[in-house]
Amino acid sequence: MKLFYNAKFYSMEMENKIFRAILVQDGKIIETYHELPQLKNVEKIDLDNAFVYPGFIDTHTHSFEGGLYSLGADLKNVSNLEEVFTILSQIEKLDNKIFAYQFDENLIAEKRFPTKDELDKIFPETPVLLRRIDGHSCVINSAAAKEINWKEKLPTNFNGYLRKKQNGEASNWFHHNLDDEAILRSYHAAAEIGIKTGHTAIHTMIGNAYAQDLHFQLIKNNIAQFPIEFILYPQITNISRALELGSPRIGGCILADGSFGSYTAALKKPYSDNPQEKGILYKTDEFWENFILEAHEKGLQIAIHCIGDAAISQILKFYEKAQMQTQKDIRHIIVHNELTSDKMLDRIAAAGISATMQPMFDRLWAGKNGLYEKRLGKERTLRTNRLRSIIDRKILVAGGSDWYITELNALAGIDAAIRLHNPEERISRFEAVELYTKNAARLSFNEKRLGTISKDKQADLVILEKDIFSSENIKDIQIKRVIKKGEFLIQTK
Ligand SMILES: [Zn+2]
Ligand SMILES: [Zn+2]
Repeated sequence: MKLFYNAKFYSMEMENKIFRAILVQDGKIIETYHELPQLKNVEKIDLDNAFVYPGFIDTHTHSFEGGLYSLGADLKNVSNLEEVFTILSQIEKLDNKIFAYQFDENLIAEKRFPTKDELDKIFPETPVLLRRIDGHSCVINSAAAKEINWKEKLPTNFNGYLRKKQNGEASNWFHHNLDDEAILRSYHAAAEIGIKTGHTAIHTMIGNAYAQDLHFQLIKNNIAQFPIEFILYPQITNISRALELGSPRIGGCILADGSFGSYTAALKKPYSDNPQEKGILYKTDEFWENFILEAHEKGLQIAIHCIGDAAISQILKFYEKAQMQTQKDIRHIIVHNELTSDKMLDRIAAAGISATMQPMFDRLWAGKNGLYEKRLGKERTLRTNRLRSIIDRKILVAGGSDWYITELNALAGIDAAIRLHNPEERISRFEAVELYTKNAARLSFNEKRLGTISKDKQADLVILEKDIFSSENIKDIQIKRVIKKGEFLIQTK
């Protein structure tokens, strides 16, 4: 038995429920104390006046890509194409491929993507994949274009830039053509990053969003070897396959629409900076109706990527229909849930639908003259990422990073949630921490085991140097230690 003491343990069951010590045995919290108990025959672990929370849970990541790209080239801070080429030429290959990510053409001097010819000069033989920051477009070189078995031929004037389905095909080819060793290495890299940022569990999308579940089985078989708990989503629309894989859920970023950045998020009214364009509903009503009703009937929790109001409405309509036919506590998920009206939120609440949302999207895109304002105009920007309105309606909402799209960093998410650009939609610090602990556990039906510091729960804890509830600068609070099932995973002092 271990007694952890000398810290403020925030239970997160309710506000101001704080313990002074907890007793752990076999990975579980077996007792909590408001005062330091006098116990014999226990190992006493002094936490040095720290602040302890339930281990963070990120409810939406692409951990494979996150891990994979952490081993590849990060283009987040480049200022021109010359720098891009230098970084690419220095990076280590993975299974003889080059991966680069976080590229944003708007942030570099040239304001454009590199071309295929430019990449070919440096890499005549090695396939290169350079993804845009939102993942919805990319650039590849000739070596890659030659290897990929395209469903639709590339245009004759192809310059390397891909979006929509061909963007998906290209990244799928890269991700699909890695050996098991590179795949497991990527997940281990992901787990390490997760732990360093205070997570003890992360929801992980696996599969190409179309038919293939890729390495779902491989990860499931190896799940015990990772130091973090991966909660797996088969990112496919094949229901019998999801059942065969023994998954309680299906989906993830299976796409109802695209992204605002690429003008592919489906809107009810046209884009403000492109009045010809209303985005794209990637699949028909008929497709979603069949998929959602059947998955619901078979008892699978469903998760679908919906960004624009037209996409959210499309999916909501069939979630509602499924619930009307057979009411279940199944917590179907709208992933992202970015642009909503009051009426849509009322319907989401009434149908018992949940959401995983990314407060960092607001931080990145909702500011003055930011991407939302450009694409959606001022009025619609106020209707993005509406955490306050959602929580007031008692909709189950959990936090996520959509890592690799934004950093895997719960503290940054918490900070963004309490400081949303729209003051009307800001939430309290307690509610923001709930997004990454208690609510996150509920999203995967793990609320009996995870998400709070309480008797009989798993001893998954994050130990911080400062208090989230009173610190000015939340995102820079140092993570001192992470405890998983009662054992230290990291320890910094
Ligand atoms: Zn995603
Ligand atoms: Zn998505």
